[in-house]
Amino acid sequence: MQHAASSAVVVAGWHRMSYSFGDQTYISQELEKHIRKLHDAVGNAVTQGRYIIFGAGSTQLLNAAVHALSPNNASSPAKVVASIPFYPVYQEQTDFFRSVDYRFQGDASLWKNYSETSTDRMIEFVTSPNNPDGQLNEAVLQGQNVKAIYDLAYYWPHFTAIPAPADEDVMIFTLSKLTGHAGSRFGWAVLKDEAIYQRMQSYLTLNTMGVSRESQLRTLQLLKVVLQGGKDMFEFGHETMKKRWEILNNTISMSKRFSLQKIESHYCTFFQKVREASPAYAWVKCEREEDKDCYAVFQAGNITGRRGSLYFAGDSYVRLSLIRSQDDFDLLLHKLNKLVYD
Ligand code: PMP
Repeated sequence: MQHAASSAVVVAGWHRMSYSFGDQTYISQELEKHIRKLHDAVGNAVTQGRYIIFGAGSTQLLNAAVHALSPNNASSPAKVVASIPFYPVYQEQTDFFRSVDYRFQGDASLWKNYSETSTDRMIEFVTSPNNPDGQLNEAVLQGQNVKAIYDLAYYWPHFTAIPAPADEDVMIFTLSKLTGHAGSRFGWAVLKDEAIYQRMQSYLTLNTMGVSRESQLRTLQLLKVVLQGGKDMFEFGHETMKKRWEILNNTISMSKRFSLQKIESHYCTFFQKVREASPAYAWVKCEREEDKDCYAVFQAGNITGRRGSLYFAGDSYVRLSLIRSQDDFDLLLHKLNKLVYD
């Protein structure tokens, strides 16, 4: 809202009508350049010598990456895993497409020994910081045939310290959690390997023939404003999230009925200091035996969270979103205070 005019986009009716950018790609070179600049400015990912590919949100890229890392027509499909608690879309999407090349196989930790010696391809989703619990996760599996997809949707200074630039083979980012423009459906992947890049590119070509021009144009305009502001947006984001986390912690700590996840402080290379936690979600545990259905406990207090079982963690957990509007957050606190003090 503070940059309403400079972040606005006006598009003439005749502008950019064709499929490609005239160079056989569906990617705006200008936008790609700005994405690299952004990662350099924030220091959260290495992009020199890396390929960049765009998707309709990171959602499209998650499956594109699974496809690209899976064997083609092998005798056994790739085993796709993630560490509990994990973002449910990894499983839902992998199951939904029912490919002969890959299959979802649940919790990563159960496959640790197997992965060390197996000749089967294994694909591990690593979410850092994690949705729902905000932890800076690392890959659990090791072995020659293990590939990781790093979902770095929340690896921005609003939500976490940035200890070092991420330098993984497959890294996925999204505008949804950077500026909040989730409805523009824009995400990108940063890739080390050319063959993986080509396989993801062919997925994108067959699936949607690239990302909407309007999305790319709007994203470019937003990134220009972000970059012009230096640290402004990140300071705003971090301050806002930190304040919310502090207030929430103070409220929850008044109660023995609920507890919140603990997140360690880390040195942040972006802010050049040790920073406290500022996660996107509260991962709340109901501590009492009789509150086995934590979701129902909050629902009774007029608070709608997401069930812990959606993340395969059990129903003594519930996830509350802290990245909605200020009004939503204020309302959440108001209702939470009632639950805690009544
Ligand atoms: N990954 C994670 C971990 C997420 O939490 C989300 C959004 N909730 C996404 C990916 C998908 O985001 P989008 O498709 O909007 O980029």
